[in-house]
Amino acid sequence: STQEKTPQICVVGSGPAGFYTAQHLLKQHPQAHVDIYEKQPVPFGLVRFGVAPDHPEVKNVINTFTQTAHSGRCAFWGNVEVGRDVTVPELREAYHAVVLSYGAEDHRALEIPGEELPGVCSARAFVGWYNGLPENRELEPDLSCDTAVILGQGNVALDVARILLTPPEHLERTDITKAALGVLRQSQVKTVWLVGRRGPLQVAFTIKVPRPRKRLTELLLRTATEKPGPEEAARRASASRAWGLRFFRSPQQVLPSPDGRRAAGVRLAVTRLEGVGEATRAVPTGDMEDLPCGLVLSSVGYKSRPVDPSVPFDSKLGVIPNVEGRVMDVPGLYCSGWVKRGPTGVIATTMTDSFLTGQMLLQDLKAGLLPSGPRPGYAAIQALLSSRGVRPVSFSDWEKLDAEEVARGQGTGKPREKLVDPQEMLRLLGH
Ligand code: FAD
Repeated sequence: STQEKTPQICVVGSGPAGFYTAQHLLKQHPQAHVDIYEKQPVPFGLVRFGVAPDHPEVKNVINTFTQTAHSGRCAFWGNVEVGRDVTVPELREAYHAVVLSYGAEDHRALEIPGEELPGVCSARAFVGWYNGLPENRELEPDLSCDTAVILGQGNVALDVARILLTPPEHLERTDITKAALGVLRQSQVKTVWLVGRRGPLQVAFTIKVPRPRKRLTELLLRTATEKPGPEEAARRASASRAWGLRFFRSPQQVLPSPDGRRAAGVRLAVTRLEGVGEATRAVPTGDMEDLPCGLVLSSVGYKSRPVDPSVPFDSKLGVIPNVEGRVMDVPGLYCSGWVKRGPTGVIATTMTDSFLTGQMLLQDLKAGLLPSGPRPGYAAIQALLSSRGVRPVSFSDWEKLDAEEVARGQGTGKPREKLVDPQEMLRLLGH
């Protein structure tokens, strides 16, 4: 049948999940055509807007994604927000199959009093700000205080702590935005606490070694208990900045300053663990502790949003209900990445799960479970977008923006100076 010969498939979102799904489909099906829709004018999702600027090696996956985008059977359409500019039913009409891989764009709220006070911000927004995410470019966090508290102890919390504590001159040759570097240069923050409800055995951050949990625990224990050698002791005594982990503490309230105008601390309930194994829970002991600080960063997780009323969504788990990437009760609709599994796991985890979704889609195609007959693909969507005044950004457009960013970074020794204003990007492209 036609669909088996030249299946028209579209992917929503151009982060690792979108690109790895596309890569699998193109590689495993010699005729498949894949269009990737992305709401930002630029590709790569959290690889561009999440991964810390001082971890450039992690961003090498962009080379693989670029290869995929260069395939004659793949197209990238940025500046198209699915759910707003085009609906999922319209995509399903135009394609044989649709894969939703739009990630997790919200942050999980703390749901405690005082959360709305100035001086409290989500780690997600803070990360977006230093990485040039358009919607966060004007965040300008106030770093005039000497203590910051990060609520959460995952990888994102560690990234944020590192960026707050790294001497700005060490960030000068990264792709951190000029504006963020300016604010960090003026920072008065000397101490950063990372607060977690549970203990050292439950922390969520990962390290790059085999048997990580055992290694991580050993590392934590050694650092906490061993007396440092003379050199290390001298180094620590002369350090101008410090950080620490505070375990078994659950945030109850953000404390206001005397005039009530901004955050001045966090009230923490002391907890202890109950239960064993997976069922371990932190329960309050009844003791409280107040931790003074001028900046509170909540880092208790990202969260997916529903994209379109026609797509099932589990708002409790924050995922699209699916079985191995097949969206429940909607034939021809698939999902991959954080919107499929929830917002945990590194790029490699996202790769494995996206390949699996690709595999399920191709199985269904082979079994004749996808619509038969030809589908118009992008031709139909292009007509819709143009009638709605939406101007998509192609991959070669992105390559022009990329070249512009690289050129702006030259001279200052940065790999690039990111463009942060979508209007400016579109202007540069003559849109
Ligand atoms: P995303 O990367 O978020 O991609 C989703 C894409 O969909 C985005 O481009 C978004 O703009 C787009 N989109 C959203 N809504 C729509 C819509 N309606 N229409 C069209 N497009 C839409 N992993 C590592 O391995 N190493 C690291 O160092 C590392 N650091 C990280 C740091 C941070 C702060 C975070 C949050 C994560 C980090 N990760 C890291 C994890 C890694 O980023 C994720 O595993 C991976 O990005 C998830 O891929 P995804 O494609 O599901 O989501």
